[in-house]
Amino acid sequence: MKKLIILFVITIVIAISGCGKKEKTVSLNSTSDTVKAKTEKTTPKSEENPCLKFDELNKKILDRKVKKDEALPELKKLFQEISDYYDKNGGIKYTINDWRFPLDGYSYNAIGGKDGNGYVPGGYNYFDGNKHTGHPAQDIFIHDSNQDNKDDGTGKYVNVLSVTGGIIISCENNWDPKGDGRGGNYIWCFCPYDNTVVYYAHNREIFVKPGDIVKPGDKIAYVGRTGVNAAPSRSPTHLHISLFTVKDGYPVPENIYQNLKKSKLSYD
Ligand SMILES: [Zn+2]
Repeated sequence: MKKLIILFVITIVIAISGCGKKEKTVSLNSTSDTVKAKTEKTTPKSEENPCLKFDELNKKILDRKVKKDEALPELKKLFQEISDYYDKNGGIKYTINDWRFPLDGYSYNAIGGKDGNGYVPGGYNYFDGNKHTGHPAQDIFIHDSNQDNKDDGTGKYVNVLSVTGGIIISCENNWDPKGDGRGGNYIWCFCPYDNTVVYYAHNREIFVKPGDIVKPGDKIAYVGRTGVNAAPSRSPTHLHISLFTVKDGYPVPENIYQNLKKSKLSYD
């Protein structure tokens, strides 16, 4: 019996060490395959990355080039595909307790208006695109008296941090000052587990692309002055942030003032 047990243990040891060797050999011989796989993951092909399809459709909606009846079924389908894609690529579930305040070095005192009254739904409709009414958002202002996009105190650009965890589904990094784009250089981030979308507008520069998965607190942009109404000197430098709950594919805005107030600060 003793002999049998010893033999069993030896067999297992050989099996384990054999596996290790085998794996090592495989990875040594397939360096190019590994690199290729990594490259494919960071720049997914359009047919594999539903966020690129969403980005395309969202831009058509912003330009009012597609009707609601036509777009809505497609949006519903895409949000589901993106949820699956998020899970498949290691997306994690976050809660409201994980929220980060979106301006690095600032707190809720920088939110414009009083007690969140900057939020004015005013008949907002996503399908009105760049011609929408209302201001279903909070504006968060930086100290930038000379409007050079830099913080007066630090002399540096201010980081925009992702409030939630999620996946980037649409963005613009080449805002055309001659066009009618109100968001300027913007980011849309979908949070599949909450079924919400967070929108960040007027950024100077953005550091994400459709398909990127972000965590709360990740640096996604610099605060800026892009967008039809944010570029003129009458507008103080700020981040415009909205949250939409997706209902049957349709994004409905919500006031997140109280949640922003509770969110962790970059220096907490
Ligand atoms: Zn705004």
